[in-house]
Amino acid sequence: MTRPIRARFDSAALRHNHAVARHYAGSARLWSVVKANAYGHGLQRTVAALADVADGFALIEMESAIALRETGLRQPILMLEGFYAADELPTFAENQLTPVLHRVDQVEDFCALALPVRVPVYLKLNTGMNRLGLNPYELGRALAMLAAADVTDAITLMTHFADADGDHGVAWQMARLQEMCAGLTLPVSLANSAALLRFPETRGDWVRPGIMLYGCSPFPDRQSAEELGLKPVMTLESELIEVRDIAAGEHVGYGCSFTADQPMRIGVVACGYADGYPRQAPTGTPVLVDGARTRTLGRISMDKLCVDLTDCPKVSHGGTPVTLWGEGLSADEVAAAAGTVSYELFCALAARVPVVEVE
Ligand SMILES: *Cc1c(COP(=O)(O)O)cnc(C)c1O
Repeated sequence: MTRPIRARFDSAALRHNHAVARHYAGSARLWSVVKANAYGHGLQRTVAALADVADGFALIEMESAIALRETGLRQPILMLEGFYAADELPTFAENQLTPVLHRVDQVEDFCALALPVRVPVYLKLNTGMNRLGLNPYELGRALAMLAAADVTDAITLMTHFADADGDHGVAWQMARLQEMCAGLTLPVSLANSAALLRFPETRGDWVRPGIMLYGCSPFPDRQSAEELGLKPVMTLESELIEVRDIAAGEHVGYGCSFTADQPMRIGVVACGYADGYPRQAPTGTPVLVDGARTRTLGRISMDKLCVDLTDCPKVSHGGTPVTLWGEGLSADEVAAAAGTVSYELFCALAARVPVVEVE
């Protein structure tokens, strides 16, 4: 018998979420963001599921981009972090990858290297995130250099929002962007999932949704994934491998952090932090046992976690299904209980968890 844990991958849900993003994007084109192994969902299966609907794919990792080209992918690929050393640039040309340039010296390198083909480029502008991006003066220099070098025939301006999901919103960054782009008629790419769903004025020419494609809400405390019409793509499921009754005063798990205040029935699930379940999830984190909602008890172990079966009297250990997150229980809820975001749960899915595709 193999260990019962698995992650179900629902390609129909992924395509559904892409259609939702398409609806919000209006006439803008859509980069499907598939960095970090498609947010832990598996790059190749994610790209395959979207191959006939996606306008392009955006990611970070060069090996992944090359792997996509090797499988015959034709759509544009946007490299969100550009290149790290100039000697990577020929690979960009050979594989038709679009780099995002965020420093003037990168623009210099790009112009200096006489590439055999013209490569489209994105110029990243800092409008307040203060991570990567050109300031207004640097943008002027970059555009002048690119014009003089005549190495590209497609420049897109890009920026990233710091708080499109939160109280700061996007207006302040949009104002800075407009100032920077005054007099320019270049296409722009601005919106992540949060901006796309909340601020239609950020659509521009290309949008860049990530998390919404995977069926989670970019602002779970404002609107749930369900309210946004999104469907979970990954369902992490396992089974009970033990059921036991404990007396009042007994503890559960490492650190004895949970103490029963009455006699209770508990279950042990074959899933722990070595599978990607967050160790920080406290007692009370929601979980589904045989479809019924209950809670975790005590500390999450490496390979196991415990659940409260007090209100599930009929449950026995023989293969009772448990959903850790996904269908019926949004990863957003589990993430909130654990003090993190769905992105981190997905990206942490461990390599030892087999992924099973359903249609
Ligand atoms: C990851 C990323 C996105 C997607 O963000 P979501 O919040 O997942 O929609 C968009 N743009 C850039 C530059 C990113 O790095």
